[in-house]
Amino acid sequence: MRRFHETVGDIDLMGTADNPGAIINAFVSLPQIREVLAKGPTKASVILPGGLQADLRIVEHDSFGSLLQYFTGGKQHNIILRTRFQKQGLKLSEYGITDMATDKLEKFATEEDFYQRLGLQYIPPEIREGTTEIELAAQDALPKLVELSDIKGDIHVHSDWSDGHESIEDMASAAKARGYKYIAITDHSAGRGIAHGLNEERRKEQIEEIKRINKQMRGIRILAGIEVDIRADGSIDLSPELLSELDIVVASIHSGMNQNEEQITGRVLKAIENPNVDVIAHLTCRLIGEREPVAIDTEAIFKAAAKCNKALEINAMPERLDLKDIHVYRARELGVRLVIGTDAHSSAQLDFMRYGIGVARRGWCQSEHIVNTWPIEEILAFCKR
Ligand SMILES: [Zn+2]
Ligand SMILES: [Zn+2]
Repeated sequence: MRRFHETVGDIDLMGTADNPGAIINAFVSLPQIREVLAKGPTKASVILPGGLQADLRIVEHDSFGSLLQYFTGGKQHNIILRTRFQKQGLKLSEYGITDMATDKLEKFATEEDFYQRLGLQYIPPEIREGTTEIELAAQDALPKLVELSDIKGDIHVHSDWSDGHESIEDMASAAKARGYKYIAITDHSAGRGIAHGLNEERRKEQIEEIKRINKQMRGIRILAGIEVDIRADGSIDLSPELLSELDIVVASIHSGMNQNEEQITGRVLKAIENPNVDVIAHLTCRLIGEREPVAIDTEAIFKAAAKCNKALEINAMPERLDLKDIHVYRARELGVRLVIGTDAHSSAQLDFMRYGIGVARRGWCQSEHIVNTWPIEEILAFCKR
């Protein structure tokens, strides 16, 4: 979970306490717990709604750092770490670091101290996957990964004008409360019949409504946007005239997902080349555990997006996370601009941003790679409107 891996087998919680028994009792008494499997003085195992197992263990203050590091993983990260330092006479374990010459065990209260003892920069959990992070940490060369506090706005949000549940004002107020400077309302276009999409007339009304609200609200700017459908032939289901009146155009696939790789790739390439499109959202359309990704040549898409200077979305809905971590890593390498969108259909869902941040960090993104960490002027310049 700390690594923001897209799925987990179970949840291991860890803490320290002066009175572990009280913590364990409070934990097993939580109303949402379905079943208590085991309970001891410092450990308990429970089943959560949905069937996931969660284990809580309370450990000594002075070993918390090494234990947290051990249980956070990833497996490959810890293997490489152990092997590397074994050669230097150090034995790494969940209890700490043992000097093999003297058999003396050093304990660590924090992960920062643990990594520092090894002469490494602190390695953020999201990139502890055993790729190049340990080598770079040894050279003091890890990038500063993007953080939630870097985000200045959300660019993929629905209101009750289409299939969202709250008004434009309420979504904008909620965004402002999260410290954002802008929010793009991107309701569905009419092409997607099931989602109460807006026809051209209602779209024009909504643009006027956003102008009106922008005159009244202080501290946040509402962008008039849209989520258009990329049709089966790659065309967009709204007229170019109307698209050019909007601040931002997000395009995505919502149907015809069983086309073959050539068809889907060609279809999205056409959308990327469309001068009115700024962002491609949830590129692969996968739903974790529910729907497989569409067949698409991501390498060709990333190259085209970089060439046409179009942004690709990291959709932050927990069941989507689309682009996924390895896609983000590769797209960033190829110079693609990325944007994190929550696809919020209610104000509470604006908090999905943290999952998008998790994916961006797993893809080694810094704030400069993420378009919605930029100030409003730069976003508008990027959209060239
Ligand atoms: Zn969508
Ligand atoms: Zn959407």
